[in-house]
Amino acid sequence: MLRGRENEAVLSADASTAELRGDVREGQVVAVRGPLAVVAPQNEDRLVECVLRKSTRVPHPQSTALVVGDFVSYLSGAAEPYTLTEVKPRRSRLARTREEEEQVTAANVDLGVIIASAVEPHFKPRLVDRYLIAAREGGLDPVLVVNKADLLGENEAAELLEPYGRLSIEAVATSATSGMGLERLTEILRGKTSVFAGQSGVGKSSLVNALIPDLDAKTGEIQGHTGKGRHTTTASTLYRFPFGGSVIDTPGVRSFAMGQPAEESLHEFFPEIMAAAQNCKFSNCSHQGDAGCALPAAIRSGAVHPDRLESYLTLVHRAGVR
Ligand code: GDP
Ligand code: ZN
Repeated sequence: MLRGRENEAVLSADASTAELRGDVREGQVVAVRGPLAVVAPQNEDRLVECVLRKSTRVPHPQSTALVVGDFVSYLSGAAEPYTLTEVKPRRSRLARTREEEEQVTAANVDLGVIIASAVEPHFKPRLVDRYLIAAREGGLDPVLVVNKADLLGENEAAELLEPYGRLSIEAVATSATSGMGLERLTEILRGKTSVFAGQSGVGKSSLVNALIPDLDAKTGEIQGHTGKGRHTTTASTLYRFPFGGSVIDTPGVRSFAMGQPAEESLHEFFPEIMAAAQNCKFSNCSHQGDAGCALPAAIRSGAVHPDRLESYLTLVHRAGVR
């Protein structure tokens, strides 16, 4: 993936005149390796390799230049890699922010599927909340998948999902090993473009493999083209579902820094906290031991889970609210 300011350094030299011949074609990026993109041409059942040039028109200077899911135009010249002429504006994106520059992991997707695991690694509500908010703010519908549910008792899985059941999002417990929850997940994903995001080790690849039985053949196709050998989990890749739709599998990240959540995101993703806060004595209550704060009572009554409050406070006080 290329970040805005770093684009210059990794761009190939300008194309020779010979490379600039050919018809303009359209396609979608299915994998990115440095300045090279594997592109699925529109209405053609093959993959071509394209390269980002200095001359390529990129409409988002403050953001990653080229990511999986981007729609592009390229010149189909004599030999690959073909020259990219244009990266199209994105209708949605999953991004994390690094200073003023946006680091995009996937573009033009419908669903931001946040994969967490029940255990091994432990469920991390703060990471989950940040992903859910980043998905919504990037124009995606967030979905929460809690995988490895086979390692939990039935009640434990239900308890874990309970706070998310109150939100206007789909939340499902799955097991890539036992197949639990996969039918429901299939129905959620059918016909949509999704991005799978989450910490590494939660089972993202295992879920992709469970949903796409002949996946190995398909990754082989992409590898053959880039000549980079085995699929590495360090880059995002787009796969088509046999039941319709597609998924962009992204590399796992340990942390997910994000900018300031919008006030409306806090209302959407922390409704139980916002409801309890109505009873705080002061409207500017910080819910951190302030006099007359209603949150301690809400936690004692079970209306607010302490992990959720901690997640909320981290988001609000680390980033500030806009
Ligand atoms: P990724 O890094 O998110 O892509 O995670 P992987 O798919 O590589 O899985 C990490 C480990 O968890 C592997 O050892 C998998 O076999 C295991 N795993 C994945 N899904 C499940 C599951 O549903 N249940 C259990 N018990 N193990 C799982
Ligand atoms: Zn309060």
